[in-house]
Amino acid sequence: MTRRRLACWLMGSQPSLRAQLLAALATLLLPLGAVLLIALPTYMNRRFDAIERSQVTQFTNIARFNLNAEQERVSLFVLNFSLWTETFEYAAGRNPRYLSANLVPGTFIGGKVDYWGVAAPSGQVISAATLRGGRIISAGPTVRAFLAALPRPMPSGGATGLVRLGQEAYILAGRPITRDDGSGRGGVMLLARRVTPGVLSDIIYDDDLFSVALRPAATASTEVRLLDRTAMAVSPLNAPAGPPQLAVELRIPRAVHAAGLESTHQLRAVMVLTSLAAVLSLTLFLNRRVLSVLEGYKRDTQRIALDPAHRLDARDSTELGVLGRTINHLLDHLHEREAQLLERSRRDELTGAYTRSGLLERLDHHSVVRGALLIEVPRLQELSGLYGSDAVDTLLRELARRLHAVGDGHLVARLSTSSLALITLTDPLAPRTLLRTLERPLAFRDGEVSLTLSAGYAAAPHGVSITALLRQANIALQHALDQEEPLGVFNDAMLERSHYGHQLQTQLQGAQDRGELSLLYQPICDLQTGEWTALEALLRWQHPQLGPVPPTTFIPIAERSGVIHALGDWVIRTALRETYAAGAVPGGRINVNVSPLQLLAPDFAQQVLNLLREEGAAPQRLTVEVTESTVMQNVDLARAHLHALRAAGVHVALDDFGSGHSSLSLLADLPLDTVKLDRTFLRDAVSGGPRLALLSNSIHLARDLNLRTVVEGVEDEAMLNLLRHLGCDAVQGYHILRPSPLSELRRSPPR
Ligand code: C2E
Ligand code: CA
Ligand code: CA
Repeated sequence: MTRRRLACWLMGSQPSLRAQLLAALATLLLPLGAVLLIALPTYMNRRFDAIERSQVTQFTNIARFNLNAEQERVSLFVLNFSLWTETFEYAAGRNPRYLSANLVPGTFIGGKVDYWGVAAPSGQVISAATLRGGRIISAGPTVRAFLAALPRPMPSGGATGLVRLGQEAYILAGRPITRDDGSGRGGVMLLARRVTPGVLSDIIYDDDLFSVALRPAATASTEVRLLDRTAMAVSPLNAPAGPPQLAVELRIPRAVHAAGLESTHQLRAVMVLTSLAAVLSLTLFLNRRVLSVLEGYKRDTQRIALDPAHRLDARDSTELGVLGRTINHLLDHLHEREAQLLERSRRDELTGAYTRSGLLERLDHHSVVRGALLIEVPRLQELSGLYGSDAVDTLLRELARRLHAVGDGHLVARLSTSSLALITLTDPLAPRTLLRTLERPLAFRDGEVSLTLSAGYAAAPHGVSITALLRQANIALQHALDQEEPLGVFNDAMLERSHYGHQLQTQLQGAQDRGELSLLYQPICDLQTGEWTALEALLRWQHPQLGPVPPTTFIPIAERSGVIHALGDWVIRTALRETYAAGAVPGGRINVNVSPLQLLAPDFAQQVLNLLREEGAAPQRLTVEVTESTVMQNVDLARAHLHALRAAGVHVALDDFGSGHSSLSLLADLPLDTVKLDRTFLRDAVSGGPRLALLSNSIHLARDLNLRTVVEGVEDEAMLNLLRHLGCDAVQGYHILRPSPLSELRRSPPR
């Protein structure tokens, strides 16, 4: 457990705030508790003990002082007798009645002594008495014992001290006996007082403060001891001669100790209680004001993860509340931004229509819808190139507005840059009428622009899912685009064709390797000389089961699947190789068609030049045919590629001129050699009317711009004559020759 905590700290992942707070409190409380509960009381008790020791020593000194005073008193009493000449005479055996004259009971009672003794200079006891029952009786053995306890010889100042005889203690004082004038030495005079406990307490004046007793002396110095309830001092008392025989033992009750003990207990209790109260209130404060607020925030943030609308409970009035409110504010802000972003991802900014994801979200993927009209604005890139991107924006906005105007129960979505969709949830639509409404001319830059749209419609009277219906509408749209019809209405045959398209797409991948691809060539014939000046290579796919698949079918598929790049390379390589090997058009060129995807690849020009180099072919042998709409998708890139190719010697032809939004300025703008007028031009022109003038003007314009003109689709002599008359440079068409394999071309000589 501890190791885990340690690991927590080391790894930087810390335990919860609450655990850290508890740990901090514990580290604070432990030393505080040790000081308050152990160190302080111990110190105080030591102080109290010292007080008691000095107290008991002082009392002992008083007791010793009083005992000394009593010894002094007995000693002076002895001096009184020992200085008398009568005593001197008595000790010398010359005054035998001295005893009866002076030794009366009053001597013992008044002098507060118990024994009397006189010794002759020889050491023989000549008088020994004590008072018993009011009568003076002889006490020879006791006095002899006293005499033995006195120093010998007796010092002139006498000797005094405490002696022990049997179980009794005595104050004993002895002096040498002299004449009144102090001269001569005549034996020893002694007096002794028995020290009973009563006498002792009289001498020392003890009271309730202390108690005293005499004991046999055991040590030479004062000893102080502290017992449980009493403080005790034992102090040895001087003997008249030799080592101490008795000691005074003094005891005092340990009142200071008891009082100290009680006060330390109280102090301890007070301190423990106050620190507990402090810790408790601190903990409560931190818990109520800090920890619980923070833990509340933690709970709230966990809830916010599940319910983004939830907020921190930030009612707290302190900085924590401010913090919480700030976080809430930030969350609101974040929420708002998120909603804005979501809205932006749901709605197209330009048109206000749903985006694809917005639509699916609105319809919840599973909702049932009744109809979907998909509208494609064709050649949007081209329009943007011609009129600018603002114009395209205006157009798309207007279209979306018209779709929105269809009314409730419909949803408008923009599914790609150039396609819009109208989804109906209730009634089926009348797609043709609607398309006409949408194609109404729209006001644009002081004038009007008419619109040509392509559309696909799918209906489901009983309702299907939006994804299924959109897929069907898309198939219908694709059909319309392929067939160049304005509207495709989905049916099962389309689905089949779409499957067919898918099938072709997968099989096209390997067609080249399986040798199913081949080239046909169609000559371009000079009208002046009648010579073939070029051959246009046209791609063919011979499908093993389906037979020949027209390029108008598989080229768009190849473009959609990206196979077109490999296919385009193959066409250039093969056309160069075959025509070179056959020596097909001596001095003439080979024309290859280039699809938009090829021309708009960043390395297109380089790729073409690489192919020429690899095949060892002079660039002058090649013409690339590009269409207007291809160029319009990125005029700058197309122009750069074409410039690079022309600089190397490759010719550039603008194919299908006049079939789309023909822009005359483009003719002057692009690096071109040839313009190929679309065969619809000729078809309409031969029927007479204004188209003839258009064809004639186009040819003249091209000539003015120094461009060679080739007219496609010459199917009969009448057409040929017309073109001769109009002064066109070259022609191409079935009337000259149908696209044919190279082997057959050689057999029919150039006309
Ligand atoms: P395009 O470049 O306009 O090619 C001319 C088309 O007109 C050819 O159709 C040709 O067979 C046809 N044609 C020629 N003379 C006449 C005529 O007198 N009357 C009529 N009604 N038609 C005539 P095709 O071979 O079916 O090719 C169709 C389109 O497929 C081509 O149109 C071209 O855009 C594309 N295409 C063909 N080969 C290739 C290729 O190798 N690469 C690319 N990217 N596109 C190719
Ligand atoms: Ca062509
Ligand atoms: Ca053409």
